[in-house]
Formats: sequence, structure tokens, C-alpha cells
Amino acid sequence: MKRILKTNALPYCKGCGHDLIAKNTARALENLELDPLDVVIVTDIGCHGIIDGCLNTHTVHGLHGRSAALGAGISMGLDNQGKKIVVFIGDGGSTIGLQHILEAARLNLDMTVVVHNNMLYGMTGGQTSGLTPCGFKTSTSASGNPWSGYDLCALTHTAGASFASRVAGIGDISGSLQEAFDIKGFSLIEVMEICPSYGTRFNPKRKLREIIESSGKLPGIWKNDRMPFSARGETKCASLFDELRPVTPDFSSRLDKPFSLVISGSAGEGVQLAANLLSAAVVRSGCQVTQKGSYPVTVGVGFSTAELVISPQPIRYHGIDVPDIVVVTSEDGLAHCKRRIERMEKGMVFIDSSLESPRTGARLNRHDFRSIGARTACLYALLRFSADTGMIAADALFQTVEESGIREKIPLEKIRELIAGN
Ligand code: SF4
Repeated sequence: MKRILKTNALPYCKGCGHDLIAKNTARALENLELDPLDVVIVTDIGCHGIIDGCLNTHTVHGLHGRSAALGAGISMGLDNQGKKIVVFIGDGGSTIGLQHILEAARLNLDMTVVVHNNMLYGMTGGQTSGLTPCGFKTSTSASGNPWSGYDLCALTHTAGASFASRVAGIGDISGSLQEAFDIKGFSLIEVMEICPSYGTRFNPKRKLREIIESSGKLPGIWKNDRMPFSARGETKCASLFDELRPVTPDFSSRLDKPFSLVISGSAGEGVQLAANLLSAAVVRSGCQVTQKGSYPVTVGVGFSTAELVISPQPIRYHGIDVPDIVVVTSEDGLAHCKRRIERMEKGMVFIDSSLESPRTGARLNRHDFRSIGARTACLYALLRFSADTGMIAADALFQTVEESGIREKIPLEKIRELIAGN
């Protein structure tokens, strides 16, 4: 049978407890006769997460503290029979993503969380985490942590996990891991360990067993007799693709190569909605589109920008550096994309006539887009761009607006007249 680990030379500091956890995890999964491709190991930020490259299993690497949330999503989305979701997380990540762990326990999702509890944030310099025991010294608690850490096993047990256990990361712990992996429903195993680089340095005379005993959070097993999530018959989600309505193009396109389009205006002036309508028109013309919106966290003030890549072929990359076409309808929009426009050596800029003309190698097309109202200026500009260039079928965009829920609010006939009159 193929091995879980590609190598025994793992990338941790000498003596790191993560090495013991990884090797014992591999042994436990192999003892359960799981094929590596029946195992998904989800990691996140922290030294534990650098194991990814050493695994023959499926791997997913997420943001700090989010591995339990990702594992929960995978568990709910998979038909779990014969598959094993193993989530690796550190004590720092457990603190950050505590609610994710508790939710997975509450739903009793089919997954195992292996907590690498070395009692501090190892990767970032040995800071105190929410699981650091009282009295344990870290780089941010030189006199010893004044507070007790959370009891993660008690919390997950109370939340409804089928199984929680705490073990000291000493010697062969593959049996304990195997017991957790073999549970139907949610299991968590908290492995207590020491980070030699920071834990030993800040607590030089202390041994792991003594630290565990003095913390009051002793090794043990906690069980709930609960139905696992998989037994509820809810694990198999319909494929999202199954639910997508196929789009049969009802307009044609003259486009023969991709182009990038940046639409820049003010928040609250319909920039994203206009971009959505344009994207819909592109798709019904038989082309492909990717769309990215950006605006300040304040949402209702400042700029609002949509970036689109439009292509007759599949789009493999969305990034836009210097765009081919820019549409600008307000001061905010111009301020946000002025430097990009200045870097354009060719292409076109459709800009409201109330705005200053930026220095650019692109051809400027100035129109009074705001004359029909600030909230429809962006849509008017896109309709004008489509009609003037033919790069997007203007009929498709007019029709898409006609059929949209905002039709009543848009002076479409007036826009038609303005465009026809040039
Ligand atoms: S810094 Fe600490 S936790 Fe990270 S690999 Fe080294 S010993 Fe392990």
C-alpha cells in the first residue's frame, strides 16, 4: 500500500513535537488501511502546516485558524463513505478559529481535528495563545501566562463531539490517533507537545508531563453518544454545476480576442450592477467573462470599480495590469484609476465630460454620462461603449437591461436617443 508520508525527513526544527504527530498520524491512517487518496489532510498557517509537501494524501492549505472550517466544508460536500477528513491545526489556530471547531463539533461532522498544542505560536516567535497554560512562559508573557488556557476537549465535548481526547505527545501515540480517526462523527485529539525553539527556551527546566499536570488539563477521553452527521443523510450535496442553468447564446459576438475593461465610478452609483448586466450580456453573446469588484470597506462612499476580462475563449487568468478599455464616470472613479490610465499607451477611455482629461496614450471619448443621472451614468457609459465599438453586442446589453429588475428605473429610450444622435 502507498505510504501516507513521502519522506521521513520532515521540515521541522530538531525535537519538534509536530514531527511525532505527523509520523504517528501516518502510522494510524496506514493501520486503518486507508489509501492516501481516500484521505484529505487540511492544514493552515503555523509550523504544522508545512507538512503539506510531505504528504501523498489530498491536501488543502487554508488561512490561519480556518482549517476546521475548510475541513467542515469538505466533509459536508463529500459523500464521506470510505473517506477521511483530517484537520491539522495549532493551538494558535484553534484560538483564532475556535468557533469553527465548536460548530463542526455541534453538527457532529465526520472529521477529525488533530490539535498540535505546543502552548504558543511557534511560527511567529513564541507568543501566548488561547491554549497556553497558566504559568507557562512565552515571548509575550515573560513571567508566565497569568491566565488558564481554554480546555478545548471540554468545549468540544460540551458542543456535542462524538469524541474528544487529550494525550501527551510522547512515544507512540498512533493508537490514540487511530481511535480518534475511527470515530463516526466529529472527533478531536489534542496532542500536548513542546516547541524546542521557544517553549524550551522560555521554560528551560520544565518537562512536558509536569506542565500538563500543573495545567490541570489532564489526558483523557470524553464521548457523546450522538448520531454522526453522515447518518442524517445530508452529506451528499448536489453539485453546484448541476444547478447551473445552461446559457444558450441568443446574440452573436464579433470579438476575436480577449480584452480587459475597467469600470470606475463612485460607490452607490450602480457601478457593480452595470458590470453585472454587462457580464450577463457577454455570456448571452457566447463569450466568456470574469468580473472582480472592489470598493472601500465603507461601501457607500468613495470609489467603486469593476474589472472585467472578456474573451471569446476560456479565461485562465483574471489579473489586469494596464487595461485595454477604461470607463470613468465620476471624480472618485478617476482618482482611483488615474495612474493606470496614464500608463495606457493605446486602447480607449470613455470618460464623463465633467472630468479633467488624464494624460494617456489611449484615445479619449468624452460624453456627458451623468446627464441622465448619477445612478445610471455607468450603465449609459457601457451602453455607449458597446454601441460605439461593437466589442460587446449593444443589442445584447440593451436586451439584458430590458429584462432586468431595474428596467423601470432606467431611462432606456433616452439613452438610445443619445447614442443614436452621437
Ligand atoms: S518553531 Fe517550534 S513549532 Fe515551529 S518547527 Fe520549530 S520547534 Fe516546531
